[in-house]
Amino acid sequence: MNEQTNPIGHLLVEITRHLGPTLDEEAFLQSIIAVASELTNSEAASILVSDEEGGHLRFAAAPWFHHEALRKLEVPLDRSAAGWVFTHAEPLVIQDVAQDRRHYKTIDEVSGIQTRSILAVPIFFRGKVIGVLEVINKEGGAEYAEEDIAALETLAMLAAMALYIASLERRLTRMSQQLAELDQMKADFIAIASHELRTPLGLILGHATFLREMLGEAHREQLDTIIRNAERLKEIVESLSNVENVQSGMARLRLREISIARLVEEVASSFQKEAQRKHITLRVKIHADENVPKEEHLTVNGDAEKIAIALSNLIDNAITFTNEGGHVAIAVERIPDYVKVSVTDDGIGIPAKDMPRIFERFYQVESHLTRRHGGMGLGLSVAKAMIEMHGGRIWAESVEGKGSTFTFLLPLSAEQTAATTSPFFP
Ligand code: ADP
Repeated sequence: MNEQTNPIGHLLVEITRHLGPTLDEEAFLQSIIAVASELTNSEAASILVSDEEGGHLRFAAAPWFHHEALRKLEVPLDRSAAGWVFTHAEPLVIQDVAQDRRHYKTIDEVSGIQTRSILAVPIFFRGKVIGVLEVINKEGGAEYAEEDIAALETLAMLAAMALYIASLERRLTRMSQQLAELDQMKADFIAIASHELRTPLGLILGHATFLREMLGEAHREQLDTIIRNAERLKEIVESLSNVENVQSGMARLRLREISIARLVEEVASSFQKEAQRKHITLRVKIHADENVPKEEHLTVNGDAEKIAIALSNLIDNAITFTNEGGHVAIAVERIPDYVKVSVTDDGIGIPAKDMPRIFERFYQVESHLTRRHGGMGLGLSVAKAMIEMHGGRIWAESVEGKGSTFTFLLPLSAEQTAATTSPFFP
């Protein structure tokens, strides 16, 4: 059977042609009306859908040479055959338009086709009428019959699918535009807020430190509290702008030969006081290769400040989420092509369901929040960004109630670091 004798087959071919990665709604609806005319031996066919406000119908498809003119037309629901079908949700056959007042004459004036007979069926989607499929002027003045109605109803189902998919696509496009706008607003907000906060925070810290020196022991406790909290705020502002800089491509790596062993020891020692306060044992273990000097064999080409930020965030979390008397162990070792650093604690651990999301910005484990930890869910995303800028990798393993291990790898070869960083951070 060829396309001429098998119009449904022809339509299916058309459908697959128009169902590319996205639906070409207009072309698809046009092929439905072409097949509708052919199957029912009609002079013309059209598809009408309800407009946004629901007060009128408008043409979604009509014979192409009339489409532009008809597209602008508003077809009233209460004075048209299509409107009748739309509101009554049932098919309508008008064998002689002259004997029936429901036809909307303006359509003939605009299209230049004189309507003599009409067959129209509702287009249903999920039990609701969303449009009307209509054919006019059966050839040779013949009357529309049951099989014409059946054929149109089948095509109306296809039209319903097409209209639905197209409306979904429009919604998706709108939503992704809104998301992009929101993302931009958030980036702008973070950039402005961190910029605006930095100066007053610097002033608070400067003045409070000066006062503490001036006043000696007097008001020491209050001034310590001010300084501690201002420093905490400063860290938050720094984290925010760190993430933002990485996201907007503003972050730059200042590469130097650095000893990871020394860097880890320095960062860890800056947390000793805090660990002691919580009675947590904080230990560093450097797995040295006896044949290579310690400094040398754990050397990478990296940005010491950024690696220190990543490591500080991990140690800070390990201490925060470990109860009094617990242990935090930092291990450094060389593995093929990489230096591996891991921070292990025997703290509260992370529920398995949260694991896939902990490196996301602003993500915090719900139950951990009840511990009134003052973070913002940024530390891990900053750490991830800093490590990945170096061409490294970072991941976590954890058992709820038992503890967590956060590990990162930094490439040993300078080429590897440079190769990863150059396209994004020139
Ligand atoms: P925050 O700055 O709020 O700590 P992070 O991005 O550093 O944010 O961490 C995200 C969340 O992951 C934390 O709120 C916490 O729930 C969980 N988390 C991170 N590190 C650990 C850890 N060592 N042990 C238990 N939970 C952790």
